[in-house]
Amino acid sequence: MSSTPSTSSTPRLTVLGTGYLGATHAICMAVLGYDVLGVDTDRAKVAALNDGRVPFFEPGLPALLRKALDSGRLSFTTDLSAAGEFGDVHFICVGTPQQAGSHAADLRYVEGVTRDLAPYLRRRCLVVGKSTVPVGTAARLTRLLQDNAPAGTEVELAWNPEFLREGYAVEDTMRPDRLVFGIGSAWAEQTLRAAFAPVIRNGVPVVITDIPTAELVKVAANSFLATKISYINAMAEVCEATGADVQDLASALSYDTRIGGRFLHPGLGFGGGCLPKDIRAFVHRAEEVGVGRSVAFLRQVDAINQRRRARTVDLVREQAGGSLEGVRVCCLGAAFKPDSDDVRDAPALDVARMLQEEGAIVSVYDPEAMDNARRVQPTLHYAEGVFDAAADAQVVVLLTEWDQFRSLDPRRLAEVVATRSIVDGRHALDPAEWTAAAWTYRALGRAG
Ligand code: NAD
Repeated sequence: MSSTPSTSSTPRLTVLGTGYLGATHAICMAVLGYDVLGVDTDRAKVAALNDGRVPFFEPGLPALLRKALDSGRLSFTTDLSAAGEFGDVHFICVGTPQQAGSHAADLRYVEGVTRDLAPYLRRRCLVVGKSTVPVGTAARLTRLLQDNAPAGTEVELAWNPEFLREGYAVEDTMRPDRLVFGIGSAWAEQTLRAAFAPVIRNGVPVVITDIPTAELVKVAANSFLATKISYINAMAEVCEATGADVQDLASALSYDTRIGGRFLHPGLGFGGGCLPKDIRAFVHRAEEVGVGRSVAFLRQVDAINQRRRARTVDLVREQAGGSLEGVRVCCLGAAFKPDSDDVRDAPALDVARMLQEEGAIVSVYDPEAMDNARRVQPTLHYAEGVFDAAADAQVVVLLTEWDQFRSLDPRRLAEVVATRSIVDGRHALDPAEWTAAAWTYRALGRAG
């Protein structure tokens, strides 16, 4: 990867919101050679980043943060006026969580940062939305910007949806599968091309489109992925009722190149800060614009996904002999997926909570997500390590497929548990190996 932007017109970048997406974007862009100012309202986050500490777990990012800070091209502030002064291109990367009590996206942060930034925009600049928003949001934000910025219509808005995956965020930012630019003018396209010059020079395809399409691409992509996961999990339900084996079924399907094996892994289903809230917000928005029927299937996708959590609890209960009251259960995993410390809408934590609600004595261990998990589910017991969590357990349940759990030695784990009973919520273990070590092995979609 060549590491400098084009020399003629290298825009200065701001990144508004330095969470999982924004911090990664800011750091990678500085490493690629841009001058970058990151802005966040969270003082502790800004202090940590300026100090060289990434406030979340993301492989490879801490080293890049140090490199970017050392280059002198990256700093972080809480001061939006500094961003207005500094930036030629402002990336909006604030959160768009699910609204409390509704399936709609909560747009207060996106609208707030846009409204607060506008008064500091005194010259021609491009504001670029990266947050995932309901289609139609950008049109409102454009009015908000142009009505409130001293530079008026010299301020343009574009949309550049982000597809990075936690755990692979650096690679996905440096070498994304594609860039999508939703633009309203040739100048906006030219400016975005300048803001991504080193990435584009590396051969990454660029899709140029209008702004509503760019807003839609992200939710359309996430809906597709969620559907694929729920599809195989629906097949798991059918397998359970018919004595078939979903793992073999998935394997057989995956050889069909029209289907492919990715996102076709049966198990506990999806979670995190994106897929669940994105499909719900999509349904909500589609209903608002009168095409609810077109995406009504996403309600089923969501329902299938939620059922996996309850079904995992069923398996643990069955393993425990029919009741969870007073049963010691070891939960391996809390993060919504491996290589992340993100516990937003994490299936693992949800299952741990449901087990506890049924009276189980739950002990949770996750390699990276312990602090976040404690904050969200403070009443669960958190262990020091796998063997501590499994001590005297009557059932072990694997909920997040960290490599550390995949490679567990069933014989060693057998030395600490009370009963050799495992529920593999992620189809991450080799059943033959575990049964050979005298464990009772259960997995969703497989005969017991
Ligand atoms: P996050 O919660 O980790 O980060 C959001 C940040 O915005 C927080 O640090 C918060 O303090 C900050 N913020 C809120 N209001 C602000 C304001 N007015 N000014 C400055 N900062 C402000 O969220 P995230 O996971 O980084 O997601 C951000 C957006 O990106 C969401 O729309 C999400 O759907 C989308 N997205 C996320 C990912 C991902 O993998 N996390 C991938 C693609 C898209």
